[in-house]
Amino acid sequence: MEPDAVTPIRPQSKSPNLTFNGGMFNPLFIGKSRRWIIFWLVLIGSRLQGESWVDGWRSANPNWRGVHVITRTPSDVLKLVGVVPQLAMNGMNVLIVEVDYNFAFTSHPELRESTVITRVETDRLTDVCHRNGVRLIPQFNCLGHQSWSTQTFSLLRVHPEFDETPGLYPRNEGIYCRSWCPQNPAVGPVVFALMDEIADAFQADAMHIGMDEVFLIASDSCPRCRGQDPGLLFAKSITEMHRHLVREKHLDLLMWADRLLDSKTMGYGEWESATNGTSSAVGKIPKDILLCDWHYETLDKYQGHPSHYASISYLTGQGFRVWPTGWKTPAAIEAFNREALAQRTNGVLGYLCSTWGAVSIGDLPAWPPLTKGFEPWK
Ligand SMILES: [Zn+2]
Repeated sequence: MEPDAVTPIRPQSKSPNLTFNGGMFNPLFIGKSRRWIIFWLVLIGSRLQGESWVDGWRSANPNWRGVHVITRTPSDVLKLVGVVPQLAMNGMNVLIVEVDYNFAFTSHPELRESTVITRVETDRLTDVCHRNGVRLIPQFNCLGHQSWSTQTFSLLRVHPEFDETPGLYPRNEGIYCRSWCPQNPAVGPVVFALMDEIADAFQADAMHIGMDEVFLIASDSCPRCRGQDPGLLFAKSITEMHRHLVREKHLDLLMWADRLLDSKTMGYGEWESATNGTSSAVGKIPKDILLCDWHYETLDKYQGHPSHYASISYLTGQGFRVWPTGWKTPAAIEAFNREALAQRTNGVLGYLCSTWGAVSIGDLPAWPPLTKGFEPWK
């Protein structure tokens, strides 16, 4: 077990003169505790009315304050177990853990990556999250992000026939990430089985399906997709995920929003918005999908020189709920939050803090970008 998983986390005292017995009489601590007590009162009330845990969570949490973390090993998950109480005390009420193929799948053991998370760890994380009023949402990257650098992930290693660009780009040179083919009918049954296992292990009421930074779509090298509209293919893929996860499994569905934004009208670059024709999907997908709209720079850094972060009002105007997502630059977090707060009555959920390796899990609770991002949503 890693040291971080067993080291007791103590609340930080900001008023030492008023602190006794480990902080229980610190007014700041009481303020944080009050939110926690309210959550449990609402949860007990909702349970008495026959509602589920997540119904109680929704009632108690009008604003979402989330953290996104990639977990590749049991150690990563156990480190999170150790810091969830303090993260919750610092305002976190949603935790997204990106799992992908690092899970001990039983339906397709051949698709396990070299390090896998088991139900021993997911049980512990689920338990500590629920005891602290935190909604736990697993993530499984769909369609794009099927490789990273020279490593192709298990699905396309084991099933190269699922690849949108089969046999091309050896060692992934010349591309960002591989994609699976959105029109290969054999992909769905496999990845749905994997997501079902992950959702079950995390006792999930929601799933994040990634879908960001898809550059390889409607490739000339794919006999099924060649010459077709990327927006239609992207929408078709999302709608299939929605049918399985929302309509059949009754989960909430989250995804990154960048491929639904047109770079020409938004002013963002080709990572935070699309230049490859996928953005027309925005009018062709179910409106109950929750869109995580990520932007990490101050406006002066974008080549298009946008006057504001236009994507929030654009996506809410399309009828979606939007979860603004920032990263590590304080000025960008402040500016993006300002835009989000102006739209807060218009379907904006709160603030999601992404980490992308910029902070260790042990240091996460006091990470300044996290506390800064959460502050206006408390
Ligand atoms: Zn294809």
